[in-house]
Amino acid sequence: MAKRGMLIVLSGPSGVGKGTVRKEIFSQEGNKFDYSISMTTREKRPGEVDGKDYYFVTKEEFENEIANGGMLEYAQYVDNYYGTPLKYVNEMLDSGKDVFLEIEVKGAMQVRKKCPDGLFIFLTPPDLMELRQRLINRGTDDIAKINKRMKTAVEEIEMMQNYDYAVVNDEVPRAAEKIKTIIRAERWRVKRF
Ligand code: 5GP
Repeated sequence: MAKRGMLIVLSGPSGVGKGTVRKEIFSQEGNKFDYSISMTTREKRPGEVDGKDYYFVTKEEFENEIANGGMLEYAQYVDNYYGTPLKYVNEMLDSGKDVFLEIEVKGAMQVRKKCPDGLFIFLTPPDLMELRQRLINRGTDDIAKINKRMKTAVEEIEMMQNYDYAVVNDEVPRAAEKIKTIIRAERWRVKRF
């Protein structure tokens, strides 16, 4: 039987650039991991594709999935559900592949309890004003939503201490490089001991 893969959780406040950093890592080393596509009840943004960026579902469908025990973790974030379907993650880990999750903090803490062997990396902004500016520049949320995301971000940053590593996202290539180094080191550590 193949050695079980490693679960890699990239987390941090919304707007910090988790998606951009993850895409940078996958553009270089995508063959080494699998990405778990999340399920959400939020509306699709322009350019997003169902089954690629997220599985976009209704609140009822999401709640059915929870009731059927189909979620590894889920969280309500700014009035919507977000979560990781369990089946795919388990299949990939069982087949020996490393699986990458890109999720917010509450969900990451649920995964930490269920999968203590996972690798938990927190991506943090250089400072909070910059995070606010990034959310404004993204142009997808009105000011009330941005304020809500900022309030959540402050609470999330306090959770950083519960992670194995924290990486500052000052520049995307640099943050991606640091994360790749952490993963490489961790694979080696897991293999040896
Ligand atoms: P967005 O609406 O900007 O796509 O995502 C909002 C937040 O939800 C981001 O911090 C994003 O990383 C997080 N998120 C995306 N997928 C999941 C998931 O499956 N579970 C959890 N807990 N958070 C998620």
